[in-house]
Amino acid sequence: MRLDWASNRKRTVYFWGVVLAIPVLILIWIFRPEEGFIHWLYPLFILLCVSWAWRLFHKAKLESIEREVVATTAAFFTIKLGYYFFWGDLTKNWVEIESTYWVMAFLMILLYIIFDARRGLIYSLALFVMTLALGLFRLGSEIALGQHREEFLAFVRSEMRLFAMTGLLYTLAIIKDQLADAHRQVLQMHALARTDPLTGLPNRLALSEVLEEASQHMFGLYVVLLDIDHFKQINDRYGHDVGDQVLKEVGRRLRSSLRKGDMLGRWGGEEFMIVMRGESQHDVLAAVERLREDIAFWPFDQVGAVSASFGVAEGHIGDSIHNLLERADKALYQAKHLGRNRVELSPA
Ligand code: GH3
Ligand code: MG
Ligand code: MG
Repeated sequence: MRLDWASNRKRTVYFWGVVLAIPVLILIWIFRPEEGFIHWLYPLFILLCVSWAWRLFHKAKLESIEREVVATTAAFFTIKLGYYFFWGDLTKNWVEIESTYWVMAFLMILLYIIFDARRGLIYSLALFVMTLALGLFRLGSEIALGQHREEFLAFVRSEMRLFAMTGLLYTLAIIKDQLADAHRQVLQMHALARTDPLTGLPNRLALSEVLEEASQHMFGLYVVLLDIDHFKQINDRYGHDVGDQVLKEVGRRLRSSLRKGDMLGRWGGEEFMIVMRGESQHDVLAAVERLREDIAFWPFDQVGAVSASFGVAEGHIGDSIHNLLERADKALYQAKHLGRNRVELSPA
């Protein structure tokens, strides 16, 4: 859920970023008609922006759009940089070169947002080396001839800025990755602490939390407590490992017959609990009766017939979880008392 929310936020930011870029690019295109080759690349880039905005809006896969955006933007602005370095008068072109360097810096930030720290570093270093090579190729010979000294210094400054940014961004990205790892571990521990290792079902803690939340609306809430009959005998006769297999199989059968919205968990030992919401007592009891049959009807591997007793309690307005559980427990005791392998509903 949280991840969904984060990626939706990312999508919204990208969408508005691309949408805002479109009029800016159109304005640049209109007001700089003298720029020749670059002038004809802009419409292509604008069309690409429109297609990205369209795909972002229609929920296309985020990763593929991200990759396309950075690859195309990197290619476009490298071409632009190369063009202004090699065509026309360098001094006149310098404003464009400088602004392209700023776009490159922005692109580096994007790289670290999209990729992990290692790939962010590789791609942004590639960008840095490419711009450095272009600039040196153009300015190296000029400076040897004693020309374009100002531009050379500006070029060195821009490259140093890019390099420093890579280092800084890499450090931040490492910290971001470590925080994400720690967050993932916390989520894993949270899930682990709420899962029963034998059956893989939610455990008592998870059930208690669900009950706590459900207790806000006690009306129509049902708690079903079930206990395997004569389970001790199974352990004594076939061994603890076979007993464990029976517990797993009971968990599997219960899970496969649950209705949507019902929550099943292992309450402890050979007791399971189901938290349900029901329209009517009749429907709930029919559903619980089916669960009883699912266990009792088919023989279990090695041990043969196994059954369970069920106690059901219905929540009332003004009721407490403590009372509800006590009533379910009493109903279960009653089911045992009346001969086991049966469902008993607690009186209100
Ligand atoms: P009843 O029909 O009255 O419920 O009889 P019972 O034998 O099932 O009841 P009792 O509560 O005396 O026995 C429950 C047994 O369940 C005792 C305990 O050793 C066993 N048990 C509890 N947890 C586990 C487990 O994780 N694995 C196995 N194999 N046995 C367990
Ligand atoms: Mg028991
Ligand atoms: Mg038992």
